[in-house]
Amino acid sequence: MRTLAGMACVFCRIAAGELPAERVYEDGDVLAFRDIHPQAPTHVLVVPRKHLTSLHELDDAHLAGKLLAAAARVAREAKLEQGWRLIANSGEHGGQEVPHLHLHVLGGRPLGRMLNPPR
Ligand code: AMP
Ligand code: ZN
Repeated sequence: MRTLAGMACVFCRIAAGELPAERVYEDGDVLAFRDIHPQAPTHVLVVPRKHLTSLHELDDAHLAGKLLAAAARVAREAKLEQGWRLIANSGEHGGQEVPHLHLHVLGGRPLGRMLNPPR
């Protein structure tokens, strides 16, 4: 179903096949594709097909499990045995730029400390 938000949302449009993306995993509920500006050798975004603005809106435990399981599967398939990081930027203070819930799977190099020093 196309919502008003989905018609304008870049990740809804990728999920609908209207914009290109390098897909690495998909099923009926979630989709994983490579970030267009990778911050690490592996940088994949895992998103729900359904439009949710951020993790702040997520209350569907089944969908939450599917997102996490897809992220772990992406990491295994990318052979990130040395470790990896999952990031979900949420809202303005969280540094979120694209307002469609997404998990960043990052790995393939040492990722350093979790946060920049506080300002
Ligand atoms: P965030 O700051 O958590 O909202 O991250 C948004 C991410 O989406 C950034 O890492 C962008 O590089 C990425 N991004 C934006 N547009 C696209 C796109 N069309 N295809 C793939 N990744 C994208
Ligand atoms: Zn969307």
